[in-house]
Amino acid sequence: MLIESDKLREECGVVAIYGHPEASKLAYLSLYALQHRGQESAGIAASDGERVRLHKEMGLVSDIFTADVLASLPGSLAIGHTRYSTTGDSALLNAQPIRVECSKGRLALAHNGNITNAMEIRANLEAQGSIFQTTSDTEVVVHLIARSREETLVAAMADSLRRLEGAFSLVMITPDRIFAARDPRGFRPLVMGRIPGQAAHRADTIVFASETCAFDLVGAIYEREVKPGELIIVGPEGAHSRFYAAQQPQSSCVFEHVYFSRPDSLVFGKAVQETRDEMGRQLAREAPVDADIVVPVPDSGVTAAMGFSHESGIPLQFGLIRNHYVGRTFIEPEQRVRDFGVKLKLNPVRHVLAGKRVVLIDDSIVRGTTSRKIVRMVRDAGAKEVHMRISCPPTVSSCYYGVDTPSKNQLIAANKSVDEIREYICADSLAYLSLEGLRRAAGDGNGVSYCTACYTGKYPTNVVGVDEIQPAMAVGD
Ligand code: SF4
Repeated sequence: MLIESDKLREECGVVAIYGHPEASKLAYLSLYALQHRGQESAGIAASDGERVRLHKEMGLVSDIFTADVLASLPGSLAIGHTRYSTTGDSALLNAQPIRVECSKGRLALAHNGNITNAMEIRANLEAQGSIFQTTSDTEVVVHLIARSREETLVAAMADSLRRLEGAFSLVMITPDRIFAARDPRGFRPLVMGRIPGQAAHRADTIVFASETCAFDLVGAIYEREVKPGELIIVGPEGAHSRFYAAQQPQSSCVFEHVYFSRPDSLVFGKAVQETRDEMGRQLAREAPVDADIVVPVPDSGVTAAMGFSHESGIPLQFGLIRNHYVGRTFIEPEQRVRDFGVKLKLNPVRHVLAGKRVVLIDDSIVRGTTSRKIVRMVRDAGAKEVHMRISCPPTVSSCYYGVDTPSKNQLIAANKSVDEIREYICADSLAYLSLEGLRRAAGDGNGVSYCTACYTGKYPTNVVGVDEIQPAMAVGD
């Protein structure tokens, strides 16, 4: 059987390394730290100053990149990508980086996000004779660069980026340079760091990554975010920044803080661990409950549960244990086991739960099917009451900016009231964090502004061809 997940799924992770004799090894380690952002395929492109070599495969980073594979990727420049497909199917064809040889030279590109006008651009380019090799939205960027009338690669890249709409944090490699760019609204994260040169003759190594947790494993020091609308070029002459587009109201994805990013990362300049803890505290203030224990749905509910416990004074107990080694498919016994998929992943601790009034903390309810099974599991383990608390508002709309969400008709909160959901999941009570509470916890307006479209249906850009088109509006409208 296929083990389905009822979580919104991660998009992709990107890394780039400039100026290290083992660049592809550093890219590999950084990708390893970003594995949570995509588990379908991974790839590294590296340059020795002349050739851009590429290796990509389906599977996990640690399985794909053996010592032999890394030895076949020599050079001091590298970019890497780990993927969960949000557009295009998941075949190896669509794995990244995408490498081409075009009028602007040899280059490879990797992208996190979703280019919302990719279909339109692709149709125009195809009408002009372009032939696409993949079904991925990333390939349109490569074609735009190749066809740009601008003479230099930097100008062609800036020209191409200006034509894109939606979410993109991307890295590109040429034989002697690394490029890193972020869309003008800064939907997806991208950070820059530095590994200090270890000898007088070796300059610092520049590193880019989706999250700062990728820096820790390679000893890089966080320097700053790549700013929305910024293009940074790193080459023999050093690092140079330019803004290829006028700044637009920032719309960074708040769900990075709710669920996607690792708690040990800094994202949009804020520590994820702190924002998640504050979400839990805020939830306890907004939706208090008389109970004996706070139990997180592991792993992503743990930090919010700690915040809830601290704020409410109700002790935290690990009443559910996650099995971390569950693959995507599993052979089920012929005699069907009820809730088999969830039971493979989670197991209740009976002596913790029996006879208790439990506050169960999770980070989201998508379709509601998994929450219903978890509540049943906690009750079957002897809990007297189960009160569900969710550390974000109800998910009522799909994401068009690089996060895999089911269509609106499958989102339980788009179709049922909170009380109807409570009834469906068989909880004694159910409460979500308010939108205001989420914004406060994530520091909205305090150096960062967020997209919250999956909770409001108010998209910060025009999204063409969807069932819930909204006029363009700034976040916060
Ligand atoms: Fe993030 Fe939701 Fe906005 Fe998508 S719609 S970018 S998941 S906040």
